Amino acid sequence: MRKTGEGKQIGFVPTMGALHPGHLSLIAASKAATDLTICSIFVNPTQFNDPADLAKYPVTPAADIRLLTGAGCDVLFMPDSPAEIYQVQDPPLPHYELHSMESLLEGAFRPGHFQGVCQVVHQLLKIVQPHQLFMGRKDYQQCMVIARLLEQIGSATRLVIVPTVREASGLAMSSRNTRLSPAALTQATAIYQSLTAIKAHLQPGPVQPLLDAALQQLREAGFEQTDYISIAHAQTLEPVSHWDGQTPLVALVAAFLSGVRLIDNMALT
Ligand code: AMP
Repeated sequence: MRKTGEGKQIGFVPTMGALHPGHLSLIAASKAATDLTICSIFVNPTQFNDPADLAKYPVTPAADIRLLTGAGCDVLFMPDSPAEIYQVQDPPLPHYELHSMESLLEGAFRPGHFQGVCQVVHQLLKIVQPHQLFMGRKDYQQCMVIARLLEQIGSATRLVIVPTVREASGLAMSSRNTRLSPAALTQATAIYQSLTAIKAHLQPGPVQPLLDAALQQLREAGFEQTDYISIAHAQTLEPVSHWDGQTPLVALVAAFLSGVRLIDNMALT
């Protein structure tokens, strides 16, 4: 796949900026596997179902450019405005067939979110035309959605999924973490701890007691709302109520702390 005589391999890392080491691990993965790494920074309005979330999204271009330069990123694509991405829609943006991805988990709690993600990634792929697309496992369901998008549009781009980068505390790195106070950052580690506890106690049989304990753990840590905590089939994301000891599982969570919505996931098998 890499550095063939047929031409240089382009690696692409789409982001919304406010970069952190999680993003930089995608850049490193692209640099290791391709000849030219392109990063985009674009806070895509069509994927925000909550306008307040969009308004509060951190924007730190100077720091981002410094980090990308230090990481050896070759090209930064930073559109000035949505018009640059969604110029002339002829034909109009398609509707993407995402099936259960739009009714489960993030799909259920953020209506329209994954259509917006597909729109922007589709547009970016047309512009950048990468051989390989690097995305973080932190957004597990998003990776599955993008895999479907690539299939649906008949793209030859290869999706590479990069492991989640965590703080020493276990908290998954996220641009949204910058909106948390030092005290809240400590409370937020309950997400990782609850996922770790699910993994540690998983055994064949009913999984509801594990979910109840995790929910309780989040409540006690000060999370004001849990959108979902789910033990699901690792490929379909359908919830599993009774584990047969063999089905591949992933635990996924989305919860609010200090008004900030955090998501994380962990492979259980
Ligand atoms: P975002 O800027 O949040 O849209 O994220 C851009 C890309 O970085 C997505 O593919 C994310 O899954 C990935 N990403 C975000 N946080 C992390 C993390 N902690 N570890 C690995 N990848 C991440």
